[in-house]
Amino acid sequence: MSTITGRLLRINLNDSSFKEEKIPRRHITRFISARGLGAKYLYDELTPGIDPLCPENKLMLLIGALGGTGLQGFSKWAVMSKSPLTGTIFRSISGGNFGVWMKHAGYDLIILEGKATAPIYIHIDTDGVHFLEATDLWGLEYRQLQTQLREKHGLHTESACIGPAGEKLVRYAVIHSGERTASRGGMGTVMGSKNLKAVSINVPIKKPAPFDPEAFKGLIKTQVSILKEHPRKQTMNTLGTPYITKIVNIMGILPTKNYQAGSIPTIEDLSGDKFFELKKSRAGCYACMTRCGGMREVTQGPLRGSQIDGPEYETIFAFGPLLGLTDPQFVIDANALCDAYGIDTISTGVCIAFACELFAKGIISSADTGGLELTWGNKEDVFSLIEQIGKRKGFGRLLGDGVKKAAEQMGDGTDAFAMHIKGLELPGYEPRGVKGYALSMATSNIGGSHMYGRPREEFSGQADPLVETGKGDLIARVQKEQALEDSLIACTFGNTGLDTAMYARLLFAATGIDDFGDTANLLKIGERIVCIERCFNVREGFGRKDDTLPERMRKEPLQQAGPATDQMVVNLEHLLDEYYQALGYTAEGIPGIERLQELDLPEAIEDMKTHPATDSLESPGRDGQP
Ligand code: SF4
Repeated sequence: MSTITGRLLRINLNDSSFKEEKIPRRHITRFISARGLGAKYLYDELTPGIDPLCPENKLMLLIGALGGTGLQGFSKWAVMSKSPLTGTIFRSISGGNFGVWMKHAGYDLIILEGKATAPIYIHIDTDGVHFLEATDLWGLEYRQLQTQLREKHGLHTESACIGPAGEKLVRYAVIHSGERTASRGGMGTVMGSKNLKAVSINVPIKKPAPFDPEAFKGLIKTQVSILKEHPRKQTMNTLGTPYITKIVNIMGILPTKNYQAGSIPTIEDLSGDKFFELKKSRAGCYACMTRCGGMREVTQGPLRGSQIDGPEYETIFAFGPLLGLTDPQFVIDANALCDAYGIDTISTGVCIAFACELFAKGIISSADTGGLELTWGNKEDVFSLIEQIGKRKGFGRLLGDGVKKAAEQMGDGTDAFAMHIKGLELPGYEPRGVKGYALSMATSNIGGSHMYGRPREEFSGQADPLVETGKGDLIARVQKEQALEDSLIACTFGNTGLDTAMYARLLFAATGIDDFGDTANLLKIGERIVCIERCFNVREGFGRKDDTLPERMRKEPLQQAGPATDQMVVNLEHLLDEYYQALGYTAEGIPGIERLQELDLPEAIEDMKTHPATDSLESPGRDGQP
């Protein structure tokens, strides 16, 4: 018995066929599940250089080894693919119930490949896999769609679905599960490119059976008792992620007016307490007593009069200070509008902030925007622009390609105002005020993400956030830890009080796999996942030149940022050297052969050896010496 089913479902949309496959045990022991397995299958199955929106790209839906077991905060699910925003490997994680329903159906992984000739959706039930026409569902927003799927297939139907923006190939379209989304990297765009509106599941509940049920039950009890008392859980339960706004404002890392400044004087308007006042009820994911979400009323747009689960901190920054705004109700309404179309709030906000700065500097005018006056703080026109992006119309058509591609199309030096890393719009943490975090974002294999390895030490005072040296080891470690957590999937906000030792005990009790009981081995698995993701990207032509930050972060002193005022990342090259040495990569950021052997990644050795940018076939070694 094991909580890992060891089975995957492969669905071919070209010819409406499907088959079940056994996941090789060696894949599981080397990559566990979720992000680890997704990275392995993408590495093996994607031909380098393909267009992310072509039928040859694949979309992987994944649930973690501990999902659906009753363990608190472990039932989120992941979607992975080659991203249409970045061209890199990508993983996005969502709440909602879909992943657990995958496990009830008996799958750790669903691989979607090919492209349907006309809009369809897939329904999975006890009779098997059904390919169903979706012409009449095309154009529906997620709630209308979920309602129709439940009416047709039963009240307990759970789905992963896209909104109108995914159909229209806005490059940062999301995938919904209930009220939650896999938001980043355009995973919904890949789904739309396959003419696939939804994957729905309605099967009887079948809880995974742990290898050692008594031990596993005992560990859940321990977790629950830790959570009951823990202050972090209390804060998350009451305020949710909006509590972050005041912390980042004090640190001077709250991105303001397209990352020109790092704080605002009126932060109380967007504080956790302010959003708590607007909270109507609690909300959260399957089997999570932290329940960090909150339902709030929408006052404009297509979801007006209803409530949404949100906003999270990242949406508050994106539709608040980043656009020169401090209106909490506007943040909620903008969040709801993005949800209705199915677009990522971070990417949407950063694209609009880019346009606002161009407008403020006179580089574009209302003649370019179709009449929109994109002055800082113009809520009405920002709202219209979100709608245009969702519909891929007017000026929104250009911004729907993401800020990197939009700047490339506009030319005239506009790329200086495009805030992204590898094409992924930056999150709500100003890199100039947290230098280790800046390194993590610069080296992230999915681009400018805040979720690829967060150095908590820079927020807790254990590490000086403004110091630029000595951060390579720290970032290598937090990226490995994040990869391990994503391979389970342990929610960053719901895993309070747990550490690698506890993951080892849980995994062994759940699966009976001896190697999982060894914490050093688990961290090695984390490193193996980061490494195979890097190998995927190297094969696509990525390397040191891409591990960078926007020029603004390297050359413009940060303004109005409290302790981070006048900061820049002046020594990124040194930080990169430290990071590559910590992971056994060459000076070009390519995994060294020796390290690939140590990590038991034979599948990548030939690719890395023959890569033209490989400057040395030897790993520099763990001590940094060649
Ligand atoms: S802490 Fe929040 S995001 Fe994480 S699993 Fe719980 S409800 Fe979901």
